[in-house]
Amino acid sequence: MQFYSTNHKSAKVSLREAVMTGIAADGGLFLPEQIPVIPKAFFNNIAEMSIREIAYVVADLLLRPDIDSATIKRIVYDTFTFDIPLTEITPNIYALELFHGPTLAFKDVGARFLARIISHFNDTLPGGERMKVVVATSGDSGGAVASGFFGVPGVDVYVLYPHGRLTQFQRRQFLELGGNVHPIEVNGTFDDCQRLTREVLADSQLRSQAHITTANSLNICRLLPQTFYFFYAYADLMARSGEGSDVVIAIPCGNLGNLTAALMAMKMGLPVKRLVAATNSNDAVIQFLRTGSFTPFTPVRTIASAMDVATPANMPRITALCDGDFGSLSRMVEGVAASDEMIRESISRLYTDHHYLVDPHGATAYHALVENLRPGERGIFLSTAHPSKFPDTLFDSTGVRLKGRPGHGVRRLAAPIRIPPTRAALRNVLLQKT
Ligand SMILES: *Cc1c(COP(=O)(O)O)cnc(C)c1O
Repeated sequence: MQFYSTNHKSAKVSLREAVMTGIAADGGLFLPEQIPVIPKAFFNNIAEMSIREIAYVVADLLLRPDIDSATIKRIVYDTFTFDIPLTEITPNIYALELFHGPTLAFKDVGARFLARIISHFNDTLPGGERMKVVVATSGDSGGAVASGFFGVPGVDVYVLYPHGRLTQFQRRQFLELGGNVHPIEVNGTFDDCQRLTREVLADSQLRSQAHITTANSLNICRLLPQTFYFFYAYADLMARSGEGSDVVIAIPCGNLGNLTAALMAMKMGLPVKRLVAATNSNDAVIQFLRTGSFTPFTPVRTIASAMDVATPANMPRITALCDGDFGSLSRMVEGVAASDEMIRESISRLYTDHHYLVDPHGATAYHALVENLRPGERGIFLSTAHPSKFPDTLFDSTGVRLKGRPGHGVRRLAAPIRIPPTRAALRNVLLQKT
């Protein structure tokens, strides 16, 4: 499989190069040249299959012949050491719980898969050279990527996070590891961290001195594994009752990684009816999905903070996947925004009426689904983080105080490297020997 750049100005590359460089030389993002269509027969048996079995079928279509089947199977099975349950809330609303991985957010799926793919390709780097993996985090990517790559031989991870924006629990997930995980606190915003990541990836002089890639969803191998669980959710619903043409999936949107993966899954043949893009008050995505452009804005802080993104990184992929036809995209994806008050009300309603605890991002998707679902349809909303990651919001909305947070207060924390939001500063850090 070859991968093309969404800017169409650089040559197509192999899977290996797409993964190990992160973004294309022309600054675009990689997408598969052809999106393989899954044979119809697959859907006849899908109801009985596990997440690992489904992921293996889809991964094999996407990654072979660049990686052999036995390795693909091992990578998929090592990625999914946890299940992704579909929980019934009402007879027509289900939660897809993507947070049962080691760092309690859906990002574990992409991070664990990417770490194993990079490790596989890294074995072929000339002796002694280390791979430097940069990731910008607004909260959950840092922990997931650090955990996914911790201890992987020949790889160093640099976690860029904005000063003062993450919860202590989120910081702890990468500050307490040490080893090959290097935390970098940036005196700026999350968008600064994303910009710096892209700047060092585009720095050809730096790249001639060090092997650098990214573990943000800029990297295509963070996104490909996210297609798997849409098939699995569909399968699980089919197992409960046979027919699936009425299924609508609501996705909480930040950098649009999950939305991009869902659109890819639909291109591969996932027979769902519609997607709902759920946002918090930072709702420029909704305008983008209708028109292909949006008015730049300064993001506000919300209680669904992983979605406080001004320029969602995966917009160019969405434009490419719909061939710039935003009219047809609008029929496939509808957008709904939720204020903090609506998010709190959804958390409260799910708890009071259905005894279900949800995190603020999942609650945003639930709100959007309830607003958007029409009679006769069944809906799935993505529950992207474990509610215990947001104990204060949960307490405010439900009165429930979640205790016993995993990994709480045991290890000593590393001191981060602190830098101003400039490329030169990050460059210096990346050029130091580890
Ligand atoms: C990252 C994140 C999101 C946003 O996902 P994207 O794929 O970037 O759109 C939503 N919820 C949680 C909990 C997250 O960590």
